Amino acid sequence: MRISHLEWGCIPTTNKPVPAEKLALSFFCAIFLLMNNRPIKVDPHGLSGADNSYYKVGGPNYPPGFGYVAFGEGGVDDAEDADVILHEYGHALQDNVTPGKYGSCSTEAGAMGEGFGDYRAASNNNTTFDPACIGEWDSVPGCLRRVDTKKHYPENTINECHADGEIWSGALWDMFNSIGKFKTDSLVLWSHDIIGKNTSIENPTFCDGAKAIIKADEQIYASANKTAIIDIMEKRACYITERKGKLMFCETSDNKCGQLRFFHMLFDRVPHLFRKAMSPFKCAILFL
Ligand SMILES: [Zn+2]
Repeated sequence: MRISHLEWGCIPTTNKPVPAEKLALSFFCAIFLLMNNRPIKVDPHGLSGADNSYYKVGGPNYPPGFGYVAFGEGGVDDAEDADVILHEYGHALQDNVTPGKYGSCSTEAGAMGEGFGDYRAASNNNTTFDPACIGEWDSVPGCLRRVDTKKHYPENTINECHADGEIWSGALWDMFNSIGKFKTDSLVLWSHDIIGKNTSIENPTFCDGAKAIIKADEQIYASANKTAIIDIMEKRACYITERKGKLMFCETSDNKCGQLRFFHMLFDRVPHLFRKAMSPFKCAILFL
């Protein structure tokens, strides 16, 4: 399976002068061309009839970063559904630049992996029929998952990566609708590269993912989309907030925001208006 990287808006080789703005983009396109630039082995009937599909690594032939894809069946063959193909290819893209970092399903990293796969399906298969519906051919009637839920972190998490992934895919889909496909695609892909190169991050959290997107925006677009990204992330969780012009990054453990998770157990869900009223303590309150 090989999908053209021209979908990222990369500029074909040309002898004509290229405007400076496009030259900047072509630099990043060159990076994207190197991202998962390999044939991927695919088995369209690889799960003995089970109704599931996966991107898998393991053994000497398929080390982290270089896995294969197996599609199942069960009713409609999974390999017939473009959303499922794009989702699994999303795992391959992500794993290739962050080997093994997004693999564990019970973690926020796993949820971001599933969320990215679903976002990628929606972003690249943006049909007029319910574009936020993922896997409608495979799971007819209905959707396998959606990228436009109102799920919020952490009260809507259930520690299952596909379900919790709707939080992450929802944030990315909000970005898609706010700043557009190309910018969102390029920011998310570049953020994976940032996470991949950060040796201090082994198991990225939602917060790490959001921070990496902010960093990617700084590097690619000179932070032109920072406000939009922060607004979107704030609505989904206490990933990142801004107070008195200063960015605050909310970690998920051993700091003030992490400790306030305890109060979430007591209050379950703080009404939105109360959160607004407590805006001076926005970072902490949004985490509840
Ligand atoms: Zn998946």
